Amino acid sequence: MPARDIIIVPHPTLRTKADRITDFGPELQELVDDMIITLHQASGAGLAAPQVNVSQQVILVEFGSDEDEDIPPILYVAANPKITRFSQEIVSGAEGCLSIPGFMGEVERAQEIVVEGQDRYGKPLKMKFQGWIARIFQHEIDHINGILYTDRTSRVWEADEDYNPV
Ligand code: ZN
Repeated sequence: MPARDIIIVPHPTLRTKADRITDFGPELQELVDDMIITLHQASGAGLAAPQVNVSQQVILVEFGSDEDEDIPPILYVAANPKITRFSQEIVSGAEGCLSIPGFMGEVERAQEIVVEGQDRYGKPLKMKFQGWIARIFQHEIDHINGILYTDRTSRVWEADEDYNPV
Protein backbone atom coordinates (compact mmCIF):
# COMPACT_ATOMS: atom_id res chain seq x y z
CA MET A 1 0.00 0.00 0.00
CA PRO A 2 2.22 2.83 -1.19
CA ALA A 3 1.47 6.51 -1.19
CA ARG A 4 0.72 7.75 -4.67
CA ASP A 5 2.10 10.86 -6.33
CA ILE A 6 -0.14 13.90 -6.16
CA ILE A 7 -0.41 15.62 -9.51
CA ILE A 8 -0.37 19.39 -9.73
CA VAL A 9 -1.73 22.00 -12.11
CA PRO A 10 -1.85 22.11 -15.08
CA HIS A 11 -2.11 18.30 -15.28
CA PRO A 12 -5.07 17.49 -17.59
CA THR A 13 -6.56 14.85 -15.24
CA LEU A 14 -7.38 17.69 -12.84
CA ARG A 15 -9.61 19.14 -15.56
CA THR A 16 -11.38 15.91 -16.51
CA LYS A 17 -14.80 14.88 -15.22
CA ALA A 18 -14.15 11.63 -13.37
CA ASP A 19 -15.95 8.37 -14.13
CA ARG A 20 -18.58 6.96 -11.80
CA ILE A 21 -17.54 4.02 -9.66
CA THR A 22 -19.43 0.91 -10.69
CA ASP A 23 -17.02 -1.77 -9.45
CA PHE A 24 -16.42 -1.80 -5.70
CA GLY A 25 -13.90 -4.65 -5.93
CA PRO A 26 -10.26 -5.02 -4.88
CA GLU A 27 -8.94 -2.38 -7.29
CA LEU A 28 -11.08 0.32 -5.67
CA GLN A 29 -10.15 -0.89 -2.19
CA GLU A 30 -6.47 -0.63 -3.07
CA LEU A 31 -7.01 2.86 -4.50
CA VAL A 32 -8.82 4.01 -1.33
CA ASP A 33 -6.11 2.53 0.94
CA ASP A 34 -3.39 4.22 -1.12
CA MET A 35 -5.27 7.51 -1.04
CA ILE A 36 -5.54 7.38 2.76
CA ILE A 37 -1.76 6.92 3.04
CA THR A 38 -1.22 9.70 0.51
CA LEU A 39 -3.55 12.04 2.41
CA HIS A 40 -1.79 11.41 5.70
CA GLN A 41 1.67 11.77 4.20
CA ALA A 42 0.64 15.11 2.68
CA SER A 43 -1.01 16.30 5.94
CA GLY A 44 -4.10 17.17 3.95
CA ALA A 45 -7.71 17.42 5.06
CA GLY A 46 -9.11 15.91 1.89
CA LEU A 47 -8.12 14.18 -1.33
CA ALA A 48 -9.93 13.29 -4.54
CA ALA A 49 -8.88 10.39 -6.82
CA PRO A 50 -8.11 12.70 -9.78
CA GLN A 51 -5.38 14.26 -7.60
CA VAL A 52 -3.54 10.91 -7.72
CA ASN A 53 -4.19 10.75 -11.45
CA VAL A 54 -7.11 8.33 -11.27
CA SER A 55 -10.15 9.76 -13.02
CA GLN A 56 -12.77 8.10 -10.82
CA GLN A 57 -15.40 9.53 -8.49
CA VAL A 58 -13.98 8.79 -5.07
CA ILE A 59 -12.99 11.29 -2.39
CA LEU A 60 -11.64 11.35 1.15
CA VAL A 61 -12.38 13.99 3.74
CA GLU A 62 -10.74 13.89 7.14
CA PHE A 63 -12.06 16.08 9.90
CA GLY A 64 -10.15 16.44 13.15
CA SER A 65 -10.91 18.38 16.26
CA ASP A 66 -8.77 21.49 16.54
CA GLU A 67 -9.60 21.85 20.22
CA ASP A 68 -8.62 18.41 21.42
CA GLU A 69 -5.83 16.44 19.77
CA ASP A 70 -6.80 13.34 21.77
CA ILE A 71 -10.01 12.98 19.78
CA PRO A 72 -9.13 10.96 16.68
CA PRO A 73 -10.11 12.54 13.38
CA ILE A 74 -13.04 11.11 11.45
CA LEU A 75 -12.24 9.89 7.96
CA TYR A 76 -15.01 9.93 5.37
CA VAL A 77 -14.72 7.95 2.13
CA ALA A 78 -17.34 8.71 -0.49
CA ALA A 79 -17.82 7.14 -3.91
CA ASN A 80 -19.96 8.90 -6.51
CA PRO A 81 -20.60 11.82 -4.13
CA LYS A 82 -23.14 14.41 -5.16
CA ILE A 83 -24.37 17.47 -3.29
CA THR A 84 -28.14 17.22 -3.24
CA ARG A 85 -28.84 20.29 -1.12
CA PHE A 86 -26.99 23.59 -0.61
CA SER A 87 -27.95 26.04 2.13
CA GLN A 88 -28.85 29.54 1.04
CA GLU A 89 -26.33 30.81 3.54
CA ILE A 90 -22.96 31.34 1.88
CA VAL A 91 -19.72 31.72 3.81
CA SER A 92 -16.39 32.99 2.61
CA GLY A 93 -13.22 31.19 3.71
CA ALA A 94 -9.64 30.39 2.82
CA GLU A 95 -8.77 27.20 0.94
CA GLY A 96 -5.59 25.60 -0.22
CA CYS A 97 -5.20 22.64 -2.57
CA LEU A 98 -2.59 19.85 -2.63
CA SER A 99 -2.62 20.16 -6.42
CA ILE A 100 -1.87 23.91 -6.29
CA PRO A 101 0.99 23.93 -3.80
CA GLY A 102 2.01 27.09 -2.02
CA PHE A 103 -1.15 29.10 -2.58
CA MET A 104 -4.45 29.82 -0.91
CA GLY A 105 -7.57 31.59 -2.04
CA GLU A 106 -10.75 33.09 -0.68
CA VAL A 107 -13.73 30.99 -1.78
CA GLU A 108 -17.46 31.34 -1.14
CA ARG A 109 -19.18 28.07 -0.25
CA ALA A 110 -22.54 26.97 1.07
CA GLN A 111 -22.51 26.88 4.88
CA GLU A 112 -24.48 23.62 4.93
CA ILE A 113 -24.84 20.81 2.42
CA VAL A 114 -26.33 17.35 2.03
CA VAL A 115 -24.05 14.83 0.33
CA GLU A 116 -25.38 11.62 -1.17
CA GLY A 117 -23.32 8.81 -2.64
CA GLN A 118 -21.93 5.48 -1.58
CA ASP A 119 -19.31 4.27 0.85
CA ARG A 120 -16.21 2.37 -0.31
CA TYR A 121 -18.19 -0.88 -0.40
CA GLY A 122 -21.12 0.51 -2.39
CA LYS A 123 -23.54 1.04 0.49
CA PRO A 124 -25.67 4.19 0.04
CA LEU A 125 -24.68 7.26 2.05
CA LYS A 126 -26.55 10.43 2.91
CA MET A 127 -24.80 12.93 5.14
CA LYS A 128 -25.35 16.51 6.25
CA PHE A 129 -22.40 18.78 6.99
CA GLN A 130 -21.82 22.36 7.96
CA GLY A 131 -18.93 24.76 8.27
CA TRP A 132 -15.36 23.72 7.53
CA ILE A 133 -16.16 20.08 6.74
CA ALA A 134 -18.92 21.15 4.33
CA ARG A 135 -16.30 23.36 2.64
CA ILE A 136 -13.88 20.44 2.23
CA PHE A 137 -16.63 18.26 0.72
CA GLN A 138 -17.51 21.00 -1.76
CA HIS A 139 -13.81 21.35 -2.69
CA GLU A 140 -13.33 17.58 -3.19
CA ILE A 141 -16.56 17.13 -5.14
CA ASP A 142 -15.41 19.98 -7.39
CA HIS A 143 -12.25 17.93 -8.06
CA ILE A 144 -14.21 14.98 -9.45
CA ASN A 145 -15.97 17.43 -11.78
CA GLY A 146 -12.71 18.92 -13.04
CA ILE A 147 -13.18 22.18 -11.10
CA LEU A 148 -10.44 23.85 -9.04
CA TYR A 149 -10.94 26.41 -6.28
CA THR A 150 -9.07 28.97 -8.39
CA ASP A 151 -12.09 28.87 -10.75
CA ARG A 152 -14.21 30.22 -7.89
CA THR A 153 -12.03 33.01 -6.56
CA SER A 154 -10.42 36.20 -7.73
CA ARG A 155 -8.19 36.44 -4.67
CA VAL A 156 -5.23 34.04 -4.40
CA TRP A 157 -2.14 34.59 -2.27
CA GLU A 158 1.02 32.75 -1.28
CA ALA A 159 0.32 30.47 1.65
CA ASP A 160 2.36 30.32 4.82
CA GLU A 161 3.35 26.89 6.08
CA ASP A 162 0.55 26.37 8.56
CA TYR A 163 -2.44 25.35 6.53
CA ASN A 164 -4.31 22.16 5.60
CA PRO A 165 -4.49 21.86 1.85
CA VAL A 166 -7.19 19.72 0.29
ZN1 ZN B 1 -7.79 20.35 -3.95
